[in-house]
Amino acid sequence: MKIKSLAKPAVLTQPVYEPGKPIEYVARELGLDPAGIIKLASNENPAGPSPRAVAAAKRALEQGELYPDGGCYALRQKLAQAYGLGADQFVVGNGSNEIIELLGHTFLGAGDEVVMGAPAFIVYKLVTLLFGAKAVEVPLVNHRHDLAAMARAITPRTKLVFVACPNNPTGTANSAEELLAFARSLPDHVVGVFDEAYAEFQEKPADLRSLIREGKNIIGLRTFSKIYGLASLRVGYGYAAPGLVALLNRVRQPFNVNAIGQAAALAALDDREFTEKCARDNRAGLAQLETGLRALKLETVPSEANFILVKVGAGARLFDALQKRGIIVRPMASYGMPEWLRITVGTKPQNERLLTELKVLL
Ligand SMILES: *Cc1c(COP(=O)(O)O)cnc(C)c1O
Repeated sequence: MKIKSLAKPAVLTQPVYEPGKPIEYVARELGLDPAGIIKLASNENPAGPSPRAVAAAKRALEQGELYPDGGCYALRQKLAQAYGLGADQFVVGNGSNEIIELLGHTFLGAGDEVVMGAPAFIVYKLVTLLFGAKAVEVPLVNHRHDLAAMARAITPRTKLVFVACPNNPTGTANSAEELLAFARSLPDHVVGVFDEAYAEFQEKPADLRSLIREGKNIIGLRTFSKIYGLASLRVGYGYAAPGLVALLNRVRQPFNVNAIGQAAALAALDDREFTEKCARDNRAGLAQLETGLRALKLETVPSEANFILVKVGAGARLFDALQKRGIIVRPMASYGMPEWLRITVGTKPQNERLLTELKVLL
């Protein structure tokens, strides 16, 4: 019997996610020195993690024989303190991507609908399709979520609505006022998912907490992968009303978050100075890229995150040419934007090198 005939239908039609290639792989493929390659493709922190997080992770590794704290008790306590919410209002995941999957496990089945922007973070669609639900994609307007159109797209079959603020791949964010009004307007049969993976880079992120305290069916998602520089350790979390969090906890694996990640995340939360510096450096880097790209007569999308979209025309060709020169960026054809590239903000010299190479290639 063909193995495929044994799989669930949704698995056979599931699109395959293509992650950015690791530096070593690109180096081998192109015969380049890995040390000379810069990766501006996955919105990672060019400063790395906080040294305090690294030290904590090393200490945790010494006790590698022990199962991790399955409830992420210490991390939830610290988050609760920082947010002024209860520890029972946090669910920790193997990256915030896992929380998105837990939302699918909890709420989605065949015939359900999920409203999301297009283009938006691709994982919303992948999870929706995997659970046999229908992705209702609402086009962005001026590269921003069209919240009015998203509200109109909600039907009695809608279970989840995803809003990334700021959005990936655009870097744009709707204003805090718009987002909160939208969240408040959601009908009771819908869970509003506000993905705040880049909120720490924003000057004025929306604050969902008073709506959560009122018991609204919404959840905020955060990650240690971006400003905290811990993408490899896979830690993210959701915060919501206790009832919603309890449902998500039912469907997760008992030891979904490893101990090294938990320890690093805890220490990272204590190093406010580090994240504040990263946010400042990111703003300076964004300005450097915007100015440099505009000087090359390229259109950019104003970003509130740690990356920027730039219109270059033949995106795939320029992506290849940059890669041959040791700079990895993200082509946007899979997001339906073949003329664009998404570039992560690097260090000042990395940004400089990118701009210099672009100037040569254009
Ligand atoms: C990077 C990113 C995440 C984070 O994913 P992790 O699984 O926590 O690494 C979530 N949402 C968006 C929009 C992102 O760009």
